[in-house]
Amino acid sequence: MSDFYDILGVQRDASQKEIKAKYRKLARKYHPDVNPGDKSAEAKFKELSEAYRVLSDAKLRKQYDQVGHDMFTKGFTGQPGGDPRGAGAQGFDFSGFDFSGFGRGGKSSSGFGSFRDIFSSIFGQEGNFANGAGQQATPGRPEDIHYRMEISFKDAVQGRKAIISLKREVLCSSCAGTGFSGAGSTCPFCGGSGRVQTAARGMGTVMQVCPQCHGTGKTGNPCPECRGRGTTVKAEKIRITIPPGTDHGGKIRLPGKGNEGPAGVSDLYITFSVQKHPFFTRKGPNIYCEIPITVPEAVLGAKIEVPTIDGKANMRIPPGTQSGQTLRLREKGIPVGKSGTRGDQYVKIRITIPKTMSEEMKHLMEKYSKLNPESPRDSLGGL
Ligand SMILES: [Zn+2]
Ligand SMILES: [Zn+2]
Repeated sequence: MSDFYDILGVQRDASQKEIKAKYRKLARKYHPDVNPGDKSAEAKFKELSEAYRVLSDAKLRKQYDQVGHDMFTKGFTGQPGGDPRGAGAQGFDFSGFDFSGFGRGGKSSSGFGSFRDIFSSIFGQEGNFANGAGQQATPGRPEDIHYRMEISFKDAVQGRKAIISLKREVLCSSCAGTGFSGAGSTCPFCGGSGRVQTAARGMGTVMQVCPQCHGTGKTGNPCPECRGRGTTVKAEKIRITIPPGTDHGGKIRLPGKGNEGPAGVSDLYITFSVQKHPFFTRKGPNIYCEIPITVPEAVLGAKIEVPTIDGKANMRIPPGTQSGQTLRLREKGIPVGKSGTRGDQYVKIRITIPKTMSEEMKHLMEKYSKLNPESPRDSLGGL
């Protein structure tokens, strides 16, 4: 086994952040769940986990730096009693260290802590010892669920009820969350505390997650239903309400609809992603659009129909409306809060010129040109 710094591929003066980032990257690559049956990946993962365990702990890292790799890895003696796997007398066998203690104490099918255990403990709640001690010593609230939902522009403005499908963790119905078939009994190795003190020759003692019970403080036959995790994954349909006036990136929280665990239940957060509309855009409480009108409609004025998010609405074009002018449709915008008031719809006018003209129309235009007293460029003056 080479140096822990080499294993993680970091400099000796690497920051905790760098170490964490490097471990995260490599652990994802070599995790046994991702490489089923690959013994070399498994060995690599063990090495990585051990290197990370030591280098991410300021106290252990200092000891490691002081005594060097060989002394550090060979100098430990299992305490108390002796390691049930026979490693005690020869020193604590770090390569067999099981990381599942970092999570909730459950094991994945590979025999290691599952991805979720490792990453939630290390990167979610910072994998400190308190969290690693398992569900009994420090009950940790399960992770919230974050769900992203794409909705149409219209649904975002008007709101509606919807049903979403997601997978959430629920307490195992077979063991009621204990992870054991039957009640389980107190772990004789750690006396139920979930942790053991390990003597390090010449370096005092360090606390370790109990290798026997993986921090749960209990032993027994793992529940066959959840494989000892205490929870199972269930696909569920959940009714939600998209609130009227939802904007892109808007969020709602459904308390108690997150993951369930022995220590309680977390929340579900839904973030909305609003699709673009081919005709409308939105800014704050107002809706914007552009509408083409004819020359006579602009000159003489007209009553036209304009699309709104609620359907067609009548709009009056005043005589003499200019191209680019913006007209307002009151209260056709976005609902604001629960007050029942709405923003407005702003309609930008675009005057269109006929592409084809009959002889008669051309004559009319010529006549119009001669009669028209206005020159639109007068205001340019001497420029
Ligand atoms: Zn179970
Ligand atoms: Zn134990």
